Amino acid sequence: MRIYNTLSCRKDDFVPIEEGKVSMYVCGPTVYNLIHIGNARPMIFFDTVRRYLEYKGYDVNFVSNFTDVDDKIIKKAIEEGLPSSVISERYIEECKKDMEGMNIRPATVHPKATEEIDGMIELIQKLIDGGHAYAVDDGTVYFRVRSFPGYGKLSGKNLHDLRSGNRTLLVTGEDQKEDPFDFVLWKPKKEGEPSWPSPWGEGRPGWHIECSVMSQKYLGETIDIHGGGEDLVFPHHENEIAQSEAATGKPLAHYWMHNAFLNIDNRKMSKSLGNFFTVRDISEKYDLQVLRFFMLSAHYRSPLNFSDELMNAAKNGLDRIMTCLGSLRDFAERAESGAAYDGAAETFREKFEAAMDDDFNTADAISAVFELVKFANTAMAEGMSKEQAQGVLDLLVQLCNILGINTEPKTELLDEEVEALIEERRQARKAKDFAKADAIRAKLLEMGIILEDTREGVKWKRA
Ligand code: AMP
Ligand code: ZN
Repeated sequence: MRIYNTLSCRKDDFVPIEEGKVSMYVCGPTVYNLIHIGNARPMIFFDTVRRYLEYKGYDVNFVSNFTDVDDKIIKKAIEEGLPSSVISERYIEECKKDMEGMNIRPATVHPKATEEIDGMIELIQKLIDGGHAYAVDDGTVYFRVRSFPGYGKLSGKNLHDLRSGNRTLLVTGEDQKEDPFDFVLWKPKKEGEPSWPSPWGEGRPGWHIECSVMSQKYLGETIDIHGGGEDLVFPHHENEIAQSEAATGKPLAHYWMHNAFLNIDNRKMSKSLGNFFTVRDISEKYDLQVLRFFMLSAHYRSPLNFSDELMNAAKNGLDRIMTCLGSLRDFAERAESGAAYDGAAETFREKFEAAMDDDFNTADAISAVFELVKFANTAMAEGMSKEQAQGVLDLLVQLCNILGINTEPKTELLDEEVEALIEERRQARKAKDFAKADAIRAKLLEMGIILEDTREGVKWKRA
């Protein structure tokens, strides 16, 4: 298996630290709003990486954090007049609902920054003791970038290049830094912000330190894979490396994987640009399985442009697979018993694995699934034994599961059940519980029921 490693700038053979085991850390979202579908790209992709590694027989320890202390959360909390923990807890719960809709399995551990403050203080102290960090008068602690010779090895930046742009790096209020490259490990309390006691006074941690601490605590000083979106390469991951490696003297991770952006009109989808759709928006229009399939239809290192056209293409592709699954199930149930499965479809497994072994090429892996579907449809038309059909069906289910496509047969809802759910949604809307109302609409959509809000009330039809 080969993985493109941002650190080495090439595809490296994958050799885990411990045979049969993989430790993986993926930087998770900052929870101040519903996640957008750009945030969903790394979630879907790394969940697929995890599933494939498990399929290959590895025992995967997968950690992904929630950043629950941050300027944006504090701003939102002030706007709503609520404690920032209420905001972060609310959006953690919403994020988990979206993850479930996209069939993303919960991580082995989902640590939260606010629950790991002791570990952060400990690591910062260790860095100060080792000469890699310093506290200034106002209680800010900075990492001394020049004390870590490897700085820039991940992003390919060197301090000389950075120096020429350093005027923009110098932020007001940070004039007590020894050097403009130095970054914050701990910041002093501001009125109305969450804070914790520390040897440098009341304050809160900088963003980068949380991942260094959680990765080490849950996975060890050196881990196999560290991942996230490509915007995290610099400065976030570069700074994580500096902090962790300056403290332990060991590499933080062997393989650094970064997904390219999900774009819209060829620009990165982001909250700050305002050009985003939340996962919740998309769930109003499509089954989230379609979103997942759409994301995996491109290689993770290629930018992917979101459009209805591509989503509809993904929907058609997914329908083709689902129809084949349904027909195969029927066929296997009804066909006569006969010759045992002869492994005729195994070439598609080999193609699928070859694609995934080559830096998780999900686009080619999906092509292999389509070839299998074509093979299955032909075999059904020509006739095959029950055992043969079951063998093909098992393979198709297995490959779909690696991609995280839900293969459970959908049961039809009765008209009364649909009406009851519509009534429940109406009540939820009346009570202004829009999250619940949206969830009911999404559930109905998943079951093939389309709602239309009209002046005369809600109308519905089967897809
Ligand atoms: P954030 O909440 O901004 O820290 O982002 C959480 C994760 O989503 C990080 O791994 C980001 O790199 C990733 N991310 C954010 N926007 C996009 C995008 N438009 N395309 C792909 N990944 C993104
Ligand atoms: Zn991180």
